Amino acid sequence: MEELRQQSSACRRCDLALNRRNVVFGEGNPVTPLVLVGEGPGETEDATGRPFVGRAGALLDEVLRENGMTRKHVFICNVVKCRPTLVEASSVRNRPPTSDEIEACKPWLVSQLDAIKPIVIVCLGATAANVIIHKSFRMTQERGKWFESSFAPHAVATYHPAYVLRLHGEGFQAARASLSADIAAARRKVIEAKSRPKLSLLDMMET
Ligand code: SF4
Repeated sequence: MEELRQQSSACRRCDLALNRRNVVFGEGNPVTPLVLVGEGPGETEDATGRPFVGRAGALLDEVLRENGMTRKHVFICNVVKCRPTLVEASSVRNRPPTSDEIEACKPWLVSQLDAIKPIVIVCLGATAANVIIHKSFRMTQERGKWFESSFAPHAVATYHPAYVLRLHGEGFQAARASLSADIAAARRKVIEAKSRPKLSLLDMMET
């Protein structure tokens, strides 16, 4: 994993390399069964080189803690490793990555997931779900449902913490509760999958 991180730090496969300060490779436990995949780095992530820092990261840390976990128990990364930006007049804003940028960066994500071989992937937001689960993923209809993915035997999508933070009042409370419940379900899925006895070759021949 360290070798991949080193290699990615010099990547110039897409134009996001032009304005980035850091390649945000990802962090956490490289042998975890549970990987969280977000969309892309924002301003603070770009400045620090770390995924999910700032307010969205604090919310993610909170819901992990509520479910008995910290970043040491999971691996956290994004579908693109450099910050996508929109320059308007004198301001620089975040924007979703384009499909070309996602495709250009996909080999890094594939290599990360190949190295970790997670049992469960939690997609944080629709952009990650479109890559990990299926291309026409709809958060309103498919959030919290389980899918088999080519990247892991079990994949689920939930709200991106940054989206939750843009909501107010009851909407915020409901989305935050869903985010925490989906993380809890992912933890349970890992425990279930790990406790399932592995079939021996003999068992398989007898069934
Ligand atoms: S976003 Fe991905 S593909 Fe594009 S330059 Fe950064 S690391 Fe390379």
